[in-house]
Formats: sequence, C-alpha cells, structure tokens
Amino acid sequence: MSLTDLMKPTQKSETQLSDSAPMVVFGAHPDDIEFGCGGIIANETRTGRKAHFVICSRGEAGSYGTPTQRTAEAKRAAAILGATVEFLKLDGDAQLEIRSAHALKLAAILRRLKPQIVLAPSLVENQHPDHWRLGKLVRDATRLARYGGLKALRGLRHAIDQLFYYAVTPEAEPREINPVLVDISAPEILKSWTAAMEAHTSQVTARNYIELQLTRSRLLGARAGIGHALPLFPNDPLVVNSLEQIGRSARRF
Ligand SMILES: [Zn+2]
Repeated sequence: MSLTDLMKPTQKSETQLSDSAPMVVFGAHPDDIEFGCGGIIANETRTGRKAHFVICSRGEAGSYGTPTQRTAEAKRAAAILGATVEFLKLDGDAQLEIRSAHALKLAAILRRLKPQIVLAPSLVENQHPDHWRLGKLVRDATRLARYGGLKALRGLRHAIDQLFYYAVTPEAEPREINPVLVDISAPEILKSWTAAMEAHTSQVTARNYIELQLTRSRLLGARAGIGHALPLFPNDPLVVNSLEQIGRSARRF
C-alpha cells in the first residue's frame, strides 16, 4: 500500500502537494534519516511533497568524521533526496536527555513548519540511546504543539495528521507494531537513496551500512511481492475512508 494513498482520501495533484506543508523528519545524528528512511523520502519528494530534516546533533561523538565533515555530508545527502535540512542543538551527540524543554523546542519547530506527516526514530531502546530518546521527545512534541494554553510556546497551535517511526537499523524495528511498507522499487528511487547514503562518506567507509539497508529493503520487498520496501511504524491507528484505499498487504509466505 502506498503511504500517500493512505494519508490522502482524495489524491492531490503534484502542484497541490508541492504547495503544501513539508513532511518533517527528525534525526538524532547526521546520517540516521538517510539510512533509516531515505528511500521513503526520495519516493515522497518525487511526487512533489516537500520534506524537511531536523538533525539534533552534528555526530560529534562518532568514531569517524568530524562535525564539520558530517554536517556537510548531511547537507549533500538531503539535497540528493530533494529535502531541506536544519540542525538543532540539544544536549549533544550521545548525551541527549528527555526533558520537557527539548520537547517544547521541537514543538515550536512543528508550529513553525506545520507538517501533516512527522517521522521520528523508533522507540526501541536496545539501540543508540539518542535514537529512542529523540523518538519520545518528538512524540511528546507533536502533542504539545496542539495545546492552545501553553504559555512557553508561541505561534498558532498545530495538530499533525500522522506520526510515524522509522528504524535506523533492522534491530530498531518495533515488533509490536505492524509496519506500513512503502514500495521504493523504482530504479530512480533506489539510485537516489543509495547516493544519499553514499554521501555519508565518513560512515560508509568504516562499515557496510549501505549493503545492510539494501538487503533489508530487498527482504521486506520480497515479503510484499515487490522489489524493495521500507517500513514505517504508525504511532496511532491509520484512518481510511474506504478499504479500497488499502492497496495490498504483505502476506505471501
Ligand atoms: Zn544515529
């Protein structure tokens, strides 16, 4: 099933989509978004949807690459995927804490950008602690952004339509949530996603992250009878006007 079909009861034209608010994607580190859901971003921007990345560190605690280098890599990767990017300083790489002040900062970003769809790292805890902590902060922020009486938050209140989690690695896929599988089989999507991952030169020379991600998407695709797919995990039940909007399910084996 296509994510766009699920989200939009009436299909918007490409022009209407490009005029709409961006899809906002939060990442704890400069490469998380590309590895976790880059193919989905490429797929969405190709149909005219805007995408904006908010990266909450410069990867300064990483074993490879300097913060300057990693910032440049993230900017290049975002451009390849057709997305815009901004960096937000919270507690720094590997030191992120769950604080209401951070959730408010993220909520202020949501009020400024007014997205319908928000993507955040999954809440699976046996991973880099910044990933799931950021996921929880984003989840809280989507709630705070819609509260009218919060004095600490300026701007018009904003309610998003859907919060989805992405998994930076297969281990971060939550087992208790059935994923929405997004078909990213089109050659130009795979090419753009691979190029965006390759843009993180400091990371991909150390370990074979690209092969891991392409193998994951191939396996998920095989389960769904298509070439490649990437999973998103809805935080809330998805709502459709008719069952017809649900294209198909992965039930082949
Ligand atoms: Zn990370």
